[in-house]
Amino acid sequence: MSGGFALTAADAACWRDELEDFVPPRVFDAHAHLRNEAFMAPGVPASNDWRSAETSFATLQGISAALFPGRAVRHFAFPLPLRGVDALGISAWAAGAVAADPCSRAAAQLLPEGDAAALARLIAGQANLVALKPYHALCARRPVRIADYLPLPALALADRLGLAVILHLPAGLAPDAAELRRLCGDFPRVRWILAHCAGAFDATALAAALAATRGLAAVWLDTAAICDPRTLVIALQGFDRARILFGTDNALGIGGCRWRKGACAGAMPSCAPCARPAGKRA
Ligand SMILES: [Zn+2]
Repeated sequence: MSGGFALTAADAACWRDELEDFVPPRVFDAHAHLRNEAFMAPGVPASNDWRSAETSFATLQGISAALFPGRAVRHFAFPLPLRGVDALGISAWAAGAVAADPCSRAAAQLLPEGDAAALARLIAGQANLVALKPYHALCARRPVRIADYLPLPALALADRLGLAVILHLPAGLAPDAAELRRLCGDFPRVRWILAHCAGAFDATALAAALAATRGLAAVWLDTAAICDPRTLVIALQGFDRARILFGTDNALGIGGCRWRKGACAGAMPSCAPCARPAGKRA
């Protein structure tokens, strides 16, 4: 047991039967979350599907040790994006916590109205803060475009410092491909990590969308929270494998999904029955 997480018999069987002979001695989890309610504004309801569950870096390390026994797991960790959070405060806390492991890295939470000057000061004082993590759901505009939740001053900072930007595209890559291509040209030192295989929780549009990234050398994918093997197959066949990062999305769900009172398996068909509104994705 680590925080709100407990290894199940299914987890243990999956490791024993399918993973133990396959997973290498060293694992880098490129998409993992931390959470600290101390940085939330009082009385602000969660703006994410996931219920409260404190996740310290030690908790995250404990979860990884339980899921990947005998493996050395490093993390790229960042705060769970929630409305009403003290973004600078929780980013500083997260970076300080992650610094316990010199081989792990952290990303700073970025709000749509983020103060680039304050962000620059924060990053200057935290050598392990190597990326920005904007989040579409923190912006009220619909449909939402990248520039709506990724302020240009912060993007210019990322370009100047050579930071990564971890981008969760809410409707997959297709509607944002042209904007992403333009931003790659305008900010050539930014490295883009398209989370969740470019938001491909639904695999059907991924192959065509990946074609839109051809020639963009600064684009990576991470596999966080992708449980549909079709998405992984399409990504492995249609994208440079050297730029596909393994990610778990731990410890996003250890408090459980608020739509199903703590037993959610994720944004998957197997999630049913679920009270999650149709089309909604975490
Ligand atoms: Zn995530």
